[in-house]
This record gives sequence, structure tokens and C-alpha cells, in this order.
Amino acid sequence: MTTEPTYRRGDSGPAVAAIRERLARLGLIDAGSIPAQGEPVFDDAVENAVRHFQQTRRTTVDGMVTPGTMRLLEEASWRLGDRDLVPSPAEPPFGDDVAELQRSLLTLGFDCGRVNGAYDPTTVGAVREFQRNVGLPATGVTDLATVQALNRLNRRMAHGGLLHAMRESEAIQSAGPALPGKTLVLDPGHGGADTGVRGGGLIEAEVVFDIADRVKTRLEKLSVTTHMSHGPGGSPDDRRRAEKANELGADLLISLHCDFHSNPAASGVAAFYYGNDRFGHSSPTGERFAGLVQREVTARTGLANLGTHGMTWDVLRYTQMPAVRIELGYLTSPHDAALLASQRFRESCADAIVVAVQRLYLPPESDAPTGVLRLAELRSH
Ligand SMILES: [Zn+2]
Repeated sequence: MTTEPTYRRGDSGPAVAAIRERLARLGLIDAGSIPAQGEPVFDDAVENAVRHFQQTRRTTVDGMVTPGTMRLLEEASWRLGDRDLVPSPAEPPFGDDVAELQRSLLTLGFDCGRVNGAYDPTTVGAVREFQRNVGLPATGVTDLATVQALNRLNRRMAHGGLLHAMRESEAIQSAGPALPGKTLVLDPGHGGADTGVRGGGLIEAEVVFDIADRVKTRLEKLSVTTHMSHGPGGSPDDRRRAEKANELGADLLISLHCDFHSNPAASGVAAFYYGNDRFGHSSPTGERFAGLVQREVTARTGLANLGTHGMTWDVLRYTQMPAVRIELGYLTSPHDAALLASQRFRESCADAIVVAVQRLYLPPESDAPTGVLRLAELRSH
């Protein structure tokens, strides 16, 4: 969809000079290391710095400056107060300055939703509310006067995201233990020309759509309203998928993928929730649901447990509800691919996901041990 280039080791030119400059400003490479003559080159030092940057940003670590990594480098360069933040529903400003603002607002008790570095309508609303409270014109523009007022009032509480964390788990509690009436979005990772990874005679897009269909059938029998983020004919970008779930007012989003690795021994299942150490913020419900999925899948299928991890991929970052991405095995692993080819295994994966959803909404005292809840009545169709 995008025509922006990707820069990698060996490249040179003005864009590489700009990348080096950004990395130097972030303290990731030595600014003095740029050769005095000749073009700046994307060398090993740059690649290592990019990897380090991607790791600290909790995004895919490949050492290449893709359009996504370029955007993150730009975002990382902003500090609160560097620029006025002006509301723009179509193209909101993104950056570390916005994340800094969101943390301050949360600390002071103004609910701006998730600390995601996006100057979105919820954040603008919180800024207006803050401005009203301190007697500034409620413009929704974060200007110098607003930043100064924030800094004056910010009591620098240690746990900036606590309020949002409490609200997120309160929302689950007040939603009650019943599943009927919930809205869930299933997000098959690929579609159309974007087939995802291939291995063992399997195509990722087909596998994840098939499992998503099985989950959907089960959830609908439990009176859960279930939507797909897109049809099999296409593959919207992750931000669009998140926006669709927001528009639907979903209670939960589950993104399904299979993984790929050059080493055929890489095998197992991993689950990812929104989490960002740098912003000191994560989705507690997303983390809990990731843990539930992980336990149910490994108990029912024998796939290795690769754990749960906080990441900032767009589908996790821009969703307003708890969201989890599950990597169900490696298509490059002969062991995992053989399992993924079997109907029985796909049924077990679907059962595991649905039981994890049930557990998320069950009151803690009625929680049965892992692998015990069965969906026998649903199997008989
Ligand atoms: Zn995928």
C-alpha cells in the first residue's frame, strides 16, 4: 500500500544521513562517527543502533528502517513543549511529547485513555477538561501555557498509569460475568494478496481465517456478537483494523497469526498485549487475557509456551479495548506445521481461545482449573 522505501545495511544518501542524525540525537550512535568525506553509509553501527531502538520501542526487531520504523524515529524526537499539539481527527499528531502529556494528565486524574502517543479525540477531551479546571481557554490545543500549567500541577506520582489500569479492570468487572451481549472482534492477520508466511504446505492467511471462523461459530453460540476485522479478500493495515474495532465498540480484539523463523527448531505459541516500558504503561486486562490464552492453548494442544509479551504494534496500540495478538505456532517448524494442518488441532485452538474469553469474564471465585472447562455442547453441531 505504501510506496515509501525501506533502508538497510549498505544503503547511502541523504535519507541515511537523516537516519544517522536522528539516531545520534537519541544517543544511539556517536555523532562524531560520520565520515568527514564521502556519503554517510548505513553501516553495522547504524544497524545495531536501529535494532536497539526497535527493541526499546517494543516493535519488530529487524535492523531495517521500514516506513514504520522511520515514523517511530520521528515520534521519538519530540519532547513536550517542542511544538503546539493541535487536534486533527483525520491525522492526529503522534510522538513522545503526546505520551508525556498523556502520562501527566493521568497522574492528575484526567482520563485520556491509553498512553499511546497519539493526540486522539479522548486525549483532546482530557486536555479541554484540564484547561477548564485550571482556568485556561478550553481550546484542546496543548500550547506552552497548558504545558506550564501541567508541570506546575503534576505531582509526579510514581504510578502514572494507575488510574487507567484501575478503570480498565473496573470495566471488565462491571461488564459482569456473562458473555451474552459482549462484542468481540476477530482479526485474522492477513488476507488477499497479503498471504502472510508459508511453510509445511500451509499459507498463514488461510490457517488464521479458518481458526477465526471456528472461534466465531463458537462465540455466536454463546450469544457473543462477533465481527471479523476484514474479509478474506484483503488486508487493511493494522491501524485501520484497530479503528474498525473502536467503531464497533468492541469489548475485546483477538488478532491471529502464525510465526516464521529461519531456524526450523523455533516452535510454540506466544501471546502479545499492549505494553511499553518506556511509557511505563501497559494494558492489564490485555496482559491477563494473553496469559489465559497462553495457558489454555498450551494445555490443550501441547504447543510449547513461549510466554506473553508487551508490544506496541499498531493493532495493540490504537485499540481502545483490551487487545491480544496470538502467534499460533511456526509454519517453519515441521512439528508445528503438522499440527496446524490438522482439523483437530484447529478445533482445540478455537476451544482454547473461547474458554480464555469465558474465563476473562468469569468472577475469580468461579474459575475452574486450566484445561477443565469444556465446550462439549458446542462440539455436537
Ligand atoms: Zn502474520
